[in-house]
Amino acid sequence: MQELTQFIHTLKEDPLTGAISTPIYQTSTFVQDAPGVNKGFDYSRSNNPTRRQLENLLAELEGGVAGFAYSSGLAAIDGILKLLQTGDEILAVEDIYGGSFRMFEKVYRKFGITVKYVDMCDAENVLYHISDKTRLVWLETPTNPTLKIADIRKIATISHQYDALLVVDNTFCSPYLQKPIQLGADIVVHSATKYLAGHSDVIAGAVVVNHEELAKEIKFHQNASGAILGPFDSWLTIRGIQTLPLRIRQQSDNALKIARFLVNHELVDKVYYPGLEQHQNHHIAKEQQNGFGAMVSFSFKEDTIEHAKQFVSSTRYFKLAESLGGLKSLICHPATMTHKSTPKEIKHKAGIQDSLVRLSLGIEDATDLIQDLEQTFELIKAQRLTDTTRETAATLS
Ligand SMILES: *Cc1c(COP(=O)(O)O)cnc(C)c1O
Repeated sequence: MQELTQFIHTLKEDPLTGAISTPIYQTSTFVQDAPGVNKGFDYSRSNNPTRRQLENLLAELEGGVAGFAYSSGLAAIDGILKLLQTGDEILAVEDIYGGSFRMFEKVYRKFGITVKYVDMCDAENVLYHISDKTRLVWLETPTNPTLKIADIRKIATISHQYDALLVVDNTFCSPYLQKPIQLGADIVVHSATKYLAGHSDVIAGAVVVNHEELAKEIKFHQNASGAILGPFDSWLTIRGIQTLPLRIRQQSDNALKIARFLVNHELVDKVYYPGLEQHQNHHIAKEQQNGFGAMVSFSFKEDTIEHAKQFVSSTRYFKLAESLGGLKSLICHPATMTHKSTPKEIKHKAGIQDSLVRLSLGIEDATDLIQDLEQTFELIKAQRLTDTTRETAATLS
């Protein structure tokens, strides 16, 4: 089955009624024929038919053996961390998502779980830092917001040499662009809030695992802790996933056009996009991804917070908001928004300059988006001009 077909036809009609759209089983419990005798469902924290459909769909699309849907991406991440014990170590990508960093440092560290953060653009770094205590290797590729790429296949091999599991946060790519399990990862995690659901209307998380043993453990913790995705949100996520290929193709097309436009702009310093040939790991992205994704970041030649802040507040179609992966293009200023609480040294080490701007491309027409950016750059230019005129006037008077 070709991929576009798979996204639509993996989902079967409802066996009970033939409903082509998965029914929303908005129920907490299921009537039993006799104690312990039921139709496969007893209580919706443990199992729910709508969530089950979504979980099967996730497993199928990521090429794993089982999928699990959670109330948020962070709940999904929490569900994976519960595999660990005191004394275990995580080797994590250095510019990891802020919420994962917070959970590692503020929640799990006090239980004796330690985390080392390393640059994984070069797989040799993983080999250098991994140890017998490493239980999980935690990768994001591309990273946020500077879109660094790591070689999943190489890092999987290294992880397995040390009996560690490789976890890949696949939020930025979605299973349409990247299938980490096929490249050797053991666990894939998503903020389904982003590309999977795709319409900026739900908070959801997903985990997919590559073998039964892991599936049992994750299932146990999902049920024991209870941060499951509700039936309606499961339905919204299913509905979103079916158009994922179409959305992400258009979004990635837009991203490449925008990245090329930015590279040539006189006010722009660096452009971060794995689809550009000058990107450090462009060849790895080309090899392991089925497209380059829809996130683009750039910085200004004049690296000031003011430029970036004015820019992100002045666009017309790019809406100023956190999050990504929706139908409408979004813009944000990582230094004062998503990475506000990241210590300055870490921010700079990760390449998060003061003037860095992050774009999440939507499905609009690229012509309108480019025009929007063009006009906003003109505004910044005009502002600079008034600033210098004022300064000159001040020195003269
Ligand atoms: C948003 C995000 C998360 C957290 O997901 P929520 O659904 O907001 O809990 C995790 N990882 C990445 C890469 C994200 O972008």
